[in-house]
Amino acid sequence: MKLYSTNNHDLRVSFEDAVFNSLPTDKGLYMPENIPQLDPSFLRNIQQYSLQEIAFHIANAFIGEDIPEADLKAIITDAINFDAPVRFLDSKTAVLELFHGPSYAFKDFGARFMSRIMGYFSKQDDQLLDVLVATSGDTGGAVALGFLGVSGTRVTILYPKGKVSKVQEEQLTTNGMNIRAIEVEGTFDDCQKLVKTAFNDQNLKGHLRLTSANSINIARLIPQTFYYFWAYAQLKSQGASDIVFTVPSGNFGNIGAGLLAYKMGLPVKHFVAGTNVNDTVPRFLENGRYEPMPSQQTLANAMDVGDPSNWVRIQAMFENDLDQLRQVISSYTYTDAQTKTAMDMLFTTYGYIACPHTAIAYLASEAFRAEHPGDYASVFLSTAHPCKFPDAISSDVFEQIQLPKGAGELEGKPKLVTEMEVDYEIFKAYLLANN
Ligand SMILES: *Cc1c(COP(=O)(O)O)cnc(C)c1O
Repeated sequence: MKLYSTNNHDLRVSFEDAVFNSLPTDKGLYMPENIPQLDPSFLRNIQQYSLQEIAFHIANAFIGEDIPEADLKAIITDAINFDAPVRFLDSKTAVLELFHGPSYAFKDFGARFMSRIMGYFSKQDDQLLDVLVATSGDTGGAVALGFLGVSGTRVTILYPKGKVSKVQEEQLTTNGMNIRAIEVEGTFDDCQKLVKTAFNDQNLKGHLRLTSANSINIARLIPQTFYYFWAYAQLKSQGASDIVFTVPSGNFGNIGAGLLAYKMGLPVKHFVAGTNVNDTVPRFLENGRYEPMPSQQTLANAMDVGDPSNWVRIQAMFENDLDQLRQVISSYTYTDAQTKTAMDMLFTTYGYIACPHTAIAYLASEAFRAEHPGDYASVFLSTAHPCKFPDAISSDVFEQIQLPKGAGELEGKPKLVTEMEVDYEIFKAYLLANN
C-alpha cells in the first residue's frame, strides 16, 4: 500500500514509513492512495466468517503487498484475540461492545494491531524500537498492554501524576518487561511536551530509534474498520440489513474508520457522531466553518478534544465536500448533565451500565431516530467498560458493575514507576542511561 499526505497529494510513502513516522513532515495525515474495494461476494457471505477471518480479509486488502499472508495471519490472530459482540437492548436498538480487550477500551484494537506491525518491521530491521507515548489515561493502557511482550520493542509511557484513574494507573504501571512508566509531576500537556521535544532532538535520535504510538497512526486506523464489518456480519445473521452506527467521538478516529469501511463497500445507511461539549465537528456540519477551540473537561474525558486530529482524513474521504459529508454523517452534542441522565436511563430501562462516552452515543442514536424514524437497526458503539470511570458513575450503580474477566488481577501488583519532574534533560538522560 502506498500512502499520500492530505497536505500533499503527490507525496507517496510506503506503509512501513507511514507506520514509523505517524505523520508526514508537512503536518498532514497519511491516507491510502487507493481505498480497496471489497469483493461483493465477501460481503454477501460475511456472516459465515469469524471476526479474525474478516480482519484478515480486510487487512490483506490494505497491506497484502507489504506483509506476507502467513505473517499477517499470525499478527491478526495474536492482536485480535477478543470479541466485539453486538447486544440488542430492544428489537431496534443494539450496542456494539468494543471493550472486551485487555485495557477494556476500543483502543485495544488499534494499539494491539499497531504494536505487532511495528514489532514485525523492527525485527526485520534488527533494531530495538523505542516507543514514546504521553497519555491522559486510556491510550496509555491500550498501548502498554498492546506492546507488552512484543519483541523488538520497548515502550516508555508518561502520565500526569494523580490525574489518571486507579484502573488506568494499574494498567500503566504493573507491566514490567518491555514497558516502562514515568509518573510526571505535571499535566498531560507537560508529558506531551517532553515527548515532542524528544522527537525533535536529533542527538537523541542518533542513539535511539524512536517512534510514537500516536492515535493518528495509519496502523491504528485500519484495525478499527474490522469491527464495523464484524457488527454487520452479526446483524446480518440476525436478519437486520439497514444499519445506522452511532459513534462517541473525540479525535474522530473511530468514526473515521467506520467511514473508511463504508468507502470500502460496507453497506451502512448513516453514521452519527455523538460528542460532549467539545463540539467543533457538530458546529462545522451545521455552519460549514471549522473553528477549533481549546478543549473543555467533561465526564467523557477521552473525548475532550477541541481540534479533532482525524477530521482531515474524513474530509479527504469526502473530497472536502460538505454536502457529501452531510448525506452520510450527522452529529449531536451533549452536556455532562445530559450524559448522567442517559447513564441512569440506560440502567433503569435496560439494566445496562454504560460508561459516559457510550451514554453520549446512546443519546445521539436516539436523537437521530427521533428525527429519522424508520425500519433500521440503530447500533451505538460502546467504547469503554464502565469500571474505568468510577467518578462518573453513582456509587450504588457502580457496585453493580460486573467486572470484566481479569479485572482485579492487576490490583496489588507492585507498581513499577519512575517519578520525574518536568525537565527534558532528566528525561533524555533517563532514555539514554537505560539504553
Ligand atoms: C478514545 C476514546 C473515544 C474517542 O474516540 P476517537 O477515535 O478519538 O473519536 C471514545 N471513548 C473512549 C472510551 C475512548 O477511549
